[in-house]
Parts: sequence; structure tokens; C-alpha cells
Amino acid sequence: MNGLMMNMQLSIASIAEHAERINGDVEIVSVMGNQPRHRYTYREAFARTRKLSDSMALWGLEQGDRIATLAWNDYRHFEIYYAAACSGYVCHTINPRLFPEQLAYIINHAEDRYVCIDPDFVSLAESLADQCPTVQAWVIMTSAEAMPETRLPNVICYETLVAAGNEAFQWAPLDENAACALCYTSGTTGNPKGVLYSHRSTILHAYAAMMPDALGISQRDVVMPIVPMFHVNAWGNPYSCPMAGAKLVLPGNRMGDGQFMATLINEEGVTLSAGVPTVWLGMLAHLKASGEDVASLRQIIVGGAACPLSIMEDFDHYGVEVRVGWGMTEMSPLGTVNASMDSRESLGEQEFAKVRLKAGRQIFGVEMKIVDDEGHDLPWDGVAFGSLLVRGPWVCSSYFKLEGSDAHAHEGWFETGDVATIDPQGYMAITDRIKDVIKSGGEWISSIEVENAATDHPKVAEAAVIGHFHPKWSERPLLIVVRGADSQDLTAEEMLAWFDGKIAKWWTPDAVEFIDELPHTATGKVQKVKLRQMFKDYVFPVTGA
Ligand code: ADP
Repeated sequence: MNGLMMNMQLSIASIAEHAERINGDVEIVSVMGNQPRHRYTYREAFARTRKLSDSMALWGLEQGDRIATLAWNDYRHFEIYYAAACSGYVCHTINPRLFPEQLAYIINHAEDRYVCIDPDFVSLAESLADQCPTVQAWVIMTSAEAMPETRLPNVICYETLVAAGNEAFQWAPLDENAACALCYTSGTTGNPKGVLYSHRSTILHAYAAMMPDALGISQRDVVMPIVPMFHVNAWGNPYSCPMAGAKLVLPGNRMGDGQFMATLINEEGVTLSAGVPTVWLGMLAHLKASGEDVASLRQIIVGGAACPLSIMEDFDHYGVEVRVGWGMTEMSPLGTVNASMDSRESLGEQEFAKVRLKAGRQIFGVEMKIVDDEGHDLPWDGVAFGSLLVRGPWVCSSYFKLEGSDAHAHEGWFETGDVATIDPQGYMAITDRIKDVIKSGGEWISSIEVENAATDHPKVAEAAVIGHFHPKWSERPLLIVVRGADSQDLTAEEMLAWFDGKIAKWWTPDAVEFIDELPHTATGKVQKVKLRQMFKDYVFPVTGA
């Protein structure tokens, strides 16, 4: 017998409708480069979103077509998120820090029809336009007066588009399984892969993120995501905040500026924020040097990479609760949060430090397990470690246009590529990574691509790149090279100069070490685990990035 409750579809439009009616007076504040901060309310935001949707309706797109963004965190980006999704299109957020070749690959793979760009990225877009035949027009996210000169073909002014629309525009009902957003990840080997979120997955994830022991977002909060909106939907904040009625502060292109972020927290009364460890290190350095405080801030979520104990202890001093979060683009992203049940008093200093460093417990909606090489379940004893698998309604089942050939699907579980332990209380701790990538300041570096570029050098016999601890960026690439037989004169400087123009500048290894032979498996693959072991005590020269 079925229950007798209404079968209403979960939709992003319902967040907009709810926020317009219930949280209409709550503010969204955006940093706009050097201009004064832009402020308006959810009511105004969604009125403009409706106008934008009305104008987009004239583009002749089909349901599911992709509208891409190359943009920082601000109100226009927020409007595009909603206008595209509520209209049944897919908002494809692109990471502008990628190398142009990868950007072109991603735009072509996604078959983006329109690309909305911040004026900051006009020259980047100009360099891509010829290689992107699916793109019909480039929307520049600015006013008519501020439109830049550009060689881009088919340019549209964002504000002209908004002005032309009708704010009484109504969104048509959609199936909750319809796609609403797309984000590419290079978190695994090979080409970037598209993670395609649905209305249903996004709503469920936004609900879960609000829970008190997850991010804990309420209408009393002022939330500032210091994680880009092109990076897993800024960890879901643009959906959770209008749902909860929390004021949203969008920090524009200033996310790497610790001093500026601290000022913003103080001036806007930010209570809750989220970002990778590198962001917090920058802010703490400023707070310590200036003697400034962040009195309104009650809690931060640190994720994307392991959080050093020093960040927690420093924030203890400012009365800010630090919660570690673990997740992935493939998980929308939230998987676990460490809202520790224990205290310093109950555990003692050392034990407490151990517990709070863990990645945390699964939030309701995500299930996880660890398995050995044969796929057998391992015990949750805090000692056994194995490959971490997850499943849940906001976990990706296949990648976009790779349906059916998904190497990650593990009898209904998604293989994260992380290695972990889980203790009897359910606290998961990441101990290593199976996937061959490096994560620097929250962004991926593909070791394969760096290695390919390195081995193209005529004096290199073999090369491998490993992620190695770095105090500022969490990890940076260290290149290990075996010189060719007649090439003993190859220097580190020559090697590093070789990467110029071949890979993104920030992908260039921080240092090169030469050895006689790389460790190999029986099948001839480089043993990265062994290599990491060999260099575990290595310290990057201080001149490194
Ligand atoms: P995001 O950075 O938004 O969490 P990505 O898909 O870019 O998502 O990266 C996910 C990967 O980042 C994880 O599989 C893991 O390797 C690493 N990671 C994320 N959070 C943590 C954490 N708290 N501790 C250690 N590693 C983490």
C-alpha cells in the first residue's frame, strides 16, 4: 500500500519561490572587483532571475542544453545558476584556472551553447572562441556602459538581456531527475569528466548541508563561501542559503586575499564560512600580523584537503569552531563532516587533537564503507585501511557522456579514489589516495599531464610526479627524473624551464630531483606509493611556490 502524500517534484525553482516569499528581505552582498559592494535582496535577485529566464527562452534552446559560466562568485553568477536550472537548462560552471586547451576540451565535450563570462575573462574567451564551434554566443556579465571592446563573435550584454525580460515570467514544472548543473573534475586520470547534478540531488544535498551537525546553516547566519562557484556549486551554499534564509556574501575575485576576507567578515557580520586550508592559512597570517579579530565568525568548514591542526588551534584562539568536511565533486560535494561529539575536557588534549583531525562522520544521506583489494568489507576499527566507497542520492552514478563505461561504479557504490580508516564511532580518516593526482590549494593538478610534458624532453629517460606536503598549498608537485644515458648534464633549471607554455604555470613542479632508477611494479608501472615513501622526508626549497 502506498502512502497518500502528494508526489511533488523537487526542483531548484521551488528554492527561488520559497526565498522570494519567505526570505525576500534577506540580502545577497557581492564583491565586484574594485567597485563598491553590490547589495540586493533575494526578492530582487529572483525577480532578475525571472527576467533572465524570459530572455533565455528566446534563445531557442532545448531542455537539457548547457549554458556555461566562466565567472567568480557574485550575484550575476548566482542569477545564472537559477535562471538556467529553473528553465530546464543546465548551468555548466567552468574553472577559469585551467589551461586553455582543457577549457576548450571541456566546452566542446559539454557542447555548451552559450557561455557567460566575467569581463575579467574576455581575453581568455577570445583565445578559445575559434576552437568552440558549439558556442552560439558569449554573454559578458556586465552593464551596457561597461561592455569591453572584444574580438569575440556574437557578444551579448548581460544587463541588456536582464532588462529585456519580464519579471512575471513563470517557470514550467520539471521532472526532479532532470539535470540542472554540470561540473567537470580532473580528480581522476585522463580527460576531465563531467559530473551532472539533478534537481533532486541538489535539493536533497542542500537540505542535508543545512543540518546542525553538517554545515549547520540557519536564518540567523551570514554565510560566505570562500570556495569558487565553479567548484562544486560553492559546496552547495547558493542553494542552502536561500532555502534557510541566510544572508549570502559572495567574495568576487578576492578569495585568495586573507586580509580582504577578514575585512569582509567583520563588515558584513559573517557567522559561517567555508574554504580550503590554504585560504584559512592566508587569513590567519593576516589576523596574527594585524591583531585584528573576526568576532562575528562562529564556525568554518575546512575541506578539499586535510586540515592541519595548527589551523584548528589558531581558530580556537579566536573562538571559531573548525569543522573538517570531506567530499568530492562527484558527491555534490558533502560526504562527511567532523562536528566532534567529544571535547577537550572529556578526551584530554592529545586524544581530542586526534579525533578532530579526522574527516568526520557520514551525514544522513551518504553511506560509506572501506574495502580491501578483493572488494571485501573491512572492519570499522580505526586501524584497518582500504579503498573508500560511497553511495547516496547525491553521489554520481556515471559521468556525463560516459554512461555505462564508468570505471568507478562498484556494484552500486562509487569508488572515491581515497584510502581511509573508519573507527567504531564512524569517524572516517583519509590516510592516502589511490588516484594519481595532486591537489594544490584546493585545485587539481594532473600528474599524468605533467609527466607527459616532462618525458617529451629529449634528455629525460623517465619521469614521475608526486604530490608532496607543502605548508601553504597542502601539496605541490615534486618531479622525479631519470636522465637519459648521454644527458647527465640536464639541470633542474633546464627541466623546469621546459614546462613554459606546455602546462598551466601553477602546474609546474616546485622542484626536480634526479635519481638513477624509478621503482616499478612487475607490470612496469611506476610505484607511486614507494616513490612517495622514498621522498617522505623531502622538504621543498624555500623559494618554491
Ligand atoms: P572538493 O575539493 O570540493 O572536496 P574535489 O572533487 O575537487 O572536491 O576533491 C575531492 C578530493 O579531495 C577527495 O577525494 C580527497 O582526495 C580530497 N579531500 C577533500 N576533502 C578532504 C579532507 N577533508 N581531507 C583530506 N582530503 C580531502
